[in-house]
Amino acid sequence: MAKRTVRDITVEGGKVLLRVDYNVPFTPGAAHIADDSRLQATLPTLRYLLENRAAVVLCSHLGRPGGKVVEELRLKPIAERLESLLGRPVGYVQDCIGPHARQAADRLQPGQVLLLENLRFHPEEERNDSAFARALASLADLYVNDAFAAAHRAHASIEGVPHHLPAVAGFLMERELAMLGQVLHTPKRPLVAILGGAKVGDKIGVLENLLGRVDALLIGGGMAATFLKAQGCRVGASPVEEDRLGFARALFRKAQARGIPLVAPVDVVVASAFAADVPHRMVPVDQVPEGWLILDVGPGTIETFKSRLQRAGTVFWNGPLGVFEFPAFAEGTKALARLLASLKEATTIVGGGSTAEAVHELGLEGAMSHVSTGGGASLEFLDGRVLPGVAALLDKES
Ligand code: ADP
Ligand code: MG
Repeated sequence: MAKRTVRDITVEGGKVLLRVDYNVPFTPGAAHIADDSRLQATLPTLRYLLENRAAVVLCSHLGRPGGKVVEELRLKPIAERLESLLGRPVGYVQDCIGPHARQAADRLQPGQVLLLENLRFHPEEERNDSAFARALASLADLYVNDAFAAAHRAHASIEGVPHHLPAVAGFLMERELAMLGQVLHTPKRPLVAILGGAKVGDKIGVLENLLGRVDALLIGGGMAATFLKAQGCRVGASPVEEDRLGFARALFRKAQARGIPLVAPVDVVVASAFAADVPHRMVPVDQVPEGWLILDVGPGTIETFKSRLQRAGTVFWNGPLGVFEFPAFAEGTKALARLLASLKEATTIVGGGSTAEAVHELGLEGAMSHVSTGGGASLEFLDGRVLPGVAALLDKES
């Protein structure tokens, strides 16, 4: 069911509690924001609300203060950065509930913005405490959630507040749901998914759910070792998730029964140890030397993937194909990102924290149809779960 958005309600003259995810990469103490793309991603919703004469009370978490005040995790530097991005004053108050927050929210006029203090300074936030949710809700008369990346958490500001206020999606939330929803429900076919990243264990739900929906599933990354071993390959010293071998074998069987190609790497880059500067070389998958580890996929694998991707209508990619943090083992991930960026007809959707980071590093986000801001939330969405923060929003009227 589609969710109501800021366009579906009257915001004019209203006071809006806007939940955002400003959990930015941050150097504590230095008050330095390494990457403000999470702030930028909320500007369309913020501007819409302000231009339509709403007063906006922003709230977010930052880091893991563990339910108490941690000076380095105050949101003041974020208010300052937002002010310069938005080009208008952003108020800031040193708590998210209580008399100071109340007073600041009460004074807020249409067209003005206020950022509340880090929600996680109160342990009630992560506990989804109902009194805390009510206190937050009492600061406004409408609730907008633009924090897709936090929507998988049943926290007070995500799941609790909507019990007390009319709750709708912001534009970022709307776009995430539309683009990721397209992968699950209305893909232009063929739909091809590429899954990589560290471990099979992290991706069980996504692998299973996507296998039932895709026209081909391509595997890379650290998890490929477990799939290769399941196929009978020797993978040297690569870490294999022994407890997931059965799952991997079952996935191959299901894929075969359904006629869905489940494609593992055909060649890999192996190294003598898990480190940036170690001897490494390219080998076919059946020739991984004893004692060596698979740290990337090889060019033959990229060619194999390419033949599938060039015909795709929709591509979903999660998980780096190699240890992209080490330049020597970043080539597979880079080649795949460039390949997706070059596809002209296909809808290309990227999800996952590290995967998005790799795409950003290459400056290719603009060449993809969508790079999710979701991290863990996008994976939970794709494994078919209903996110508590999404379920809590009002459905569109049919
Ligand atoms: P995402 O955050 O995009 O969902 P993951 O968290 O699943 O991705 O995986 C990212 C990590 O996977 C990266 O830190 C990367 O180094 C690691 N990785 C990729 N390939 C390998 C490999 N062959 N061996 C070990 N780690 C790998
Ligand atoms: Mg990750």
